[in-house]
Amino acid sequence: MAAGYLSKPGSKHGPCEGECKHVDCQQTRRMAETPCVHCGKAIGFETGFYHFYGPGGSNLAHAVCEEAYQERQREAGAEAYEQRRNTLVSEAARAINAKSN
Ligand SMILES: [Zn+2]
Ligand SMILES: [Zn+2]
Repeated sequence: MAAGYLSKPGSKHGPCEGECKHVDCQQTRRMAETPCVHCGKAIGFETGFYHFYGPGGSNLAHAVCEEAYQERQREAGAEAYEQRRNTLVSEAARAINAKSN
């Protein structure tokens, strides 16, 4: 998934500085003001962000926040897998002990 990027106002690809009537500029400004779903801070300009569908409709998240979140999810998944494996191993060991007794 490629991250989006908003050029800052007044720059070549950015929206106009200050108020204007361009639909694109207003959309860009609105996106920049949208809070990140992870940290709650405005997306802002000149930073990578992801745009995706979430529970409340479309959501924006800073690329760094989204990547950190994905990393945490992966770690949580790995941890859950490790716990499950340990449980299975100890259950198997218990079953073997029960048989030998
Ligand atoms: Zn404009
Ligand atoms: Zn964020």
